[in-house]
Amino acid sequence: MKQVVIDQYECIGCGACVELCPDIFAFNDDENKAYVVTPEGGDQACIDEAIASCPASCISEEEI
Ligand code: SF4
Repeated sequence: MKQVVIDQYECIGCGACVELCPDIFAFNDDENKAYVVTPEGGDQACIDEAIASCPASCISEEEI
């Protein structure tokens, strides 16, 4: 099973992933970083697009 993960340290807070997949990612305004709200995933095409679009390349899917 896969889990969607954001490397919080690398995230630059651009918000692209949240705009692309609001069901999967949300924005933490206090920390100015995105976080994963649905680690189990969802729309795979959307997740793939977010991974490809992240300027910090900090979104990944890990086997758990
Ligand atoms: S697209 Fe990447 S850098 Fe931008 S908010 Fe999402 S995880 Fe952070």
